[in-house]
Amino acid sequence: MTLTGKMLIGQQLLGGTRDVIRAINPATDAPLEPAYAGGSGEHVEQACALAWAAFDRYRETSLAQRAQFLETIAENIEALGDTLIERAAAETGLPVPRIQGERGRTCAQLRTFARTVRAGEWLDVRVDTAQPQRQPLPRADLRQRHVALGPVAVFGASNFPLAFSVAGGDTASALAAGCPVIVKAHAAHPGTSELVGRAVAKAVSDCGLPEGVFSLLYGSGREVGIALVTDPRIKAVGFTGSRSGGIALTQAAQARPEPIPVYAEMSSINPVYLFAAALEARSAALAQGFVASLTQGAGQFCTNPGLVIAVRGPALDRFIQQAADLLSRSAAQTMLTPGIFSAFQAGVGALSQHAKVVARGVPAQGPNQGQAHLFVTEASAFLTNEHLQAEVFGAASLIVACADSEEVRQVSEQLEGQLTATLQMDEADLANAKALLPVLERKAGRLLVNGWPTGVEVSDAMVHGGPFPATSDARSTSVGTAAILRFLRPVCYQDFPDALLPTALQQDNPLLLRRLLDGQREA
Ligand code: NAP
Repeated sequence: MTLTGKMLIGQQLLGGTRDVIRAINPATDAPLEPAYAGGSGEHVEQACALAWAAFDRYRETSLAQRAQFLETIAENIEALGDTLIERAAAETGLPVPRIQGERGRTCAQLRTFARTVRAGEWLDVRVDTAQPQRQPLPRADLRQRHVALGPVAVFGASNFPLAFSVAGGDTASALAAGCPVIVKAHAAHPGTSELVGRAVAKAVSDCGLPEGVFSLLYGSGREVGIALVTDPRIKAVGFTGSRSGGIALTQAAQARPEPIPVYAEMSSINPVYLFAAALEARSAALAQGFVASLTQGAGQFCTNPGLVIAVRGPALDRFIQQAADLLSRSAAQTMLTPGIFSAFQAGVGALSQHAKVVARGVPAQGPNQGQAHLFVTEASAFLTNEHLQAEVFGAASLIVACADSEEVRQVSEQLEGQLTATLQMDEADLANAKALLPVLERKAGRLLVNGWPTGVEVSDAMVHGGPFPATSDARSTSVGTAAILRFLRPVCYQDFPDALLPTALQQDNPLLLRRLLDGQREA
């Protein structure tokens, strides 16, 4: 498939009119063809008009039709074959096996949402049948289901060119909910975005859906992004990226005459707790697991373990030495973009002003290669210096040495909201871990025991969320099937004749849904 450098507004390929975006291969610094001219407010207007026109029809597609649409997107992405893999690898510097794995995850995610749509649990059907004889007042017939919020704007993430971009988790969950989607492509991988965008647009046409169900725009966040978020026809936003970007979009959405929800996944340093017995028994294995998790993918994961917390002593000293040895042998890796590389350099430089460097990885051999860094500081410094909590996106982590469990608790209380918190513990650590749990439940969206935070399963029970600044809305997850709930709202139908009710709520339950019927969950 030849890349066109054009946006997709519904089924139409349209050239932009604003500044040109050209992908850069971060491994060589070479620009990649073609150029993508950015869209303008007019393009946003066209995409939003189409999305709005498609909304009522798309949201009432049958469960089977919508599920089939998601499966068709997955098939069309797979049909792109090596063209997609090669382009994504060139645009991101990520190794081919990683991109292949991410394509697998993206397609599996779409199919998981297809299963979710078919099962229909997300409709959350509740029926309170009428009680005309009830005293002192009769009860009306009340029936509730969930409906789609409306067209959703999705901002592609730089660090997951497939799984969190054009047909990634935000798009899949919004489409599953019945919301048309308009994606603003990330400037780092426009060619990958075009390929996937065309696979989605083809699925729209293959499935006979209205063209406005999907559009793909290029252009600046400050123009196209803000125009999208402030368009009255957009009813929710999905975003993964920087804290400043997420806050800017959230504020724009809140300042609208009709404010809308923004689900922004932003910044997290993912504390790892090394409890005393675990540290004493297996510091070498912990160091190995930690350095592998920290350096995986050049550290460019939102769940990267950027903070390690432990009580000081000989066992922690051993861990630091072992981790430092391993890290100093880790190769520098190409980062996603020159911008992300320079932000990493700046972050490491800033952290060096406030904490002691205990190890650096192998120096860079080529452009945009991040050199892993490990820092150590005392809890007393951490408690009084906010710079030590800043996310450094990449392979950099800070070990905080505490005097005792009370100081571990104080450090934990000081933490901002997190996507994850990890407990490395043995049986003898149970009491200390239990004592810390109430603090960690307040701070993080996912708590792990004896694992590492990188690697996020797409499943029913997953939570990839957490209090600010991990996300802008701690009540939600952006990974896993519960992500669909972000794009739904409940509607109650009172005393409707059966013929006027949506199919999901009709008396004889034609969709065979497990309803909550007069307070009892149906089998
Ligand atoms: P980003 O700068 O936040 O950009 C993400 C998207 O948001 C882009 O489409 C961008 O548009 C748009 N945007 C950013 N600021 C905006 C604003 N003020 N108004 C409107 N739109 C705006 O993120 P990035 O490019 O992926 O990476 C930059 C940094 O983000 C990294 O160094 C890292 O610190 C952080 N990051 C964190 C995670 C995480 O998972 N926690 C993931 C990726 C990145 P433009 O096209 O105009 O830039």
